Amino acid sequence: MTKYIFVTGGVVSSLGKGLTAAAIGGLLESHGLKVALQKFDPYINIDPGTMSPYQHGEVYVTDDGAETDLDLGHYERFTSAHLSQHSNYTTGKIYDAVIKRERRGDYLGQTVQVIPHITNEIKSCISRVASREVDVVISEIGGTVGDIESLPFLEALRQFAHDEGRENVLFIHLTLLPYIRAAGEIKTKPTQHSVGKLREIGIVPDVLVCRTEHDVEDDVRDKIALFCNVQKSAVLIEKDVEYSIYEVPLVLRGQGLDDLILKHFGLKHGSGNMDRWLEMLDRLRNPQSEVEIAVVGKYIELTDSYKSIYEALTHGGIENRCRVRIRRVKAEDLSSGDAARHLSGVDGILVPGGFGDRGLEGKIRAIQFARENDVPFFGICYGMHAAVIEFARNVLGLEGASSTEVVKDTPHPVISLLEEQEGVEDMGGTMRLGAYPCAVVPGTIAARAYGRESVSERHRHRFEYNNAYRDRMVDAGLVISGTSPDESLVEVVELADHPFFLACQYHPEFQSRPIEAHPFFRDFVAAARGREKGRATAARRRTEEVAE
Ligand code: GLN
Repeated sequence: MTKYIFVTGGVVSSLGKGLTAAAIGGLLESHGLKVALQKFDPYINIDPGTMSPYQHGEVYVTDDGAETDLDLGHYERFTSAHLSQHSNYTTGKIYDAVIKRERRGDYLGQTVQVIPHITNEIKSCISRVASREVDVVISEIGGTVGDIESLPFLEALRQFAHDEGRENVLFIHLTLLPYIRAAGEIKTKPTQHSVGKLREIGIVPDVLVCRTEHDVEDDVRDKIALFCNVQKSAVLIEKDVEYSIYEVPLVLRGQGLDDLILKHFGLKHGSGNMDRWLEMLDRLRNPQSEVEIAVVGKYIELTDSYKSIYEALTHGGIENRCRVRIRRVKAEDLSSGDAARHLSGVDGILVPGGFGDRGLEGKIRAIQFARENDVPFFGICYGMHAAVIEFARNVLGLEGASSTEVVKDTPHPVISLLEEQEGVEDMGGTMRLGAYPCAVVPGTIAARAYGRESVSERHRHRFEYNNAYRDRMVDAGLVISGTSPDESLVEVVELADHPFFLACQYHPEFQSRPIEAHPFFRDFVAAARGREKGRATAARRRTEEVAE
């Protein structure tokens, strides 16, 4: 019988509920359990696909093409759970389903209401991910307890626990323990209020995960346990981690969270073996080299906008035992002036995905700098578009070459709308989305990275390489190293006479994991490391020459 863990949060948002839920998933998998993870977001957009990265951060794409919350990226990085469109529901998506049913007449004349119709729909969303093979479903509720928009979700959870039996459901509540410097004290009152709020709704949490920046004395745990009515062993302290988010499962395991969960559900312990994870952490904590990668993007001020990219770079670093420092470069700053001013000294340049004209020229200049100065370059999606435009303009000499996304009447539309996108007017969920197979051309950087000739990668775009320019570009030295299996769509391009110059139409960052970096990120960091080493040797030689 499937068991359910519900993760809620209180006091403030951004406590790391997603990370904690993911870490719990990883811990349970170490005991041989099969987990499913899911997130509910109380906002009204059907999905985050139409939201600005400034509002929402990255849009994470699943294999089946759902545009989802970035927490799902954590779920996939910490566990081997398979995520799908059922792994992320918003208020909008839930209402949409209910309203469609109402229009079909499925409610047979009833008044359709939040309770029971919306709450029933929420409950069925939870049940939907609980297939026979899943031992534990972990559902995270976005937002904080006390928000008006969270109420239907919490009511649905309360009912769900009532329906399934309390022994089959575990409520984990994350709260903040603020440190008041003037008093020199950690305060528990916000936690007490937040738990009180949950209890008003009829939910008594079983476990409290208290987020804090400071060490917490034992008597604080006693106090929280007593006032919040949970066992002291179920009051966990999740202090900010020192090195990396990948330490979180160990912080929770160190306080016995896996034991507590297994005991609550009456499940048998597995090996609890996390050797591979520990080995990964060891590599992360003890790098033998360091590189600096410039990420040239449009939404660079926010780390959340390129979450999976930054994580994947870290993964590439882990495999190479190399610390990856990131220089965040705002693409617009490169559109005029000397690109070298912003890029000199970096060991690699990555241009991520994006939309619209702002920043495109800067990205193109960054790529020109990488190409002409033998700096390892990695372009993703819009980054590939920019690389193709750069090649067209500066190698083929096609003046004014661009993407029709930006310049509708460009004389050289080297990137143009996908045929299937002609006439699409709706913005939501209508891009080329999700996993598609890609045939990798033997003997290329891509083939060496993958070690395979057929791969599956996730996409999110409307525009595509224009085949009308294919022959000309290939003749001029652009290597097409990945295509759709029928060869009609160009998916990966690269340059042969360059240390590492590769750009792909898809988003490899979504499939990168700390214990298995995506091969492109692994090899990109390795190339950057090669450059860094080369520079270090040259500097040493120069010093020696001076000394002589
Ligand atoms: N804006 C481009 C397109 O729609 C690229 C999208 C992306 O980078 N994800 O094709």
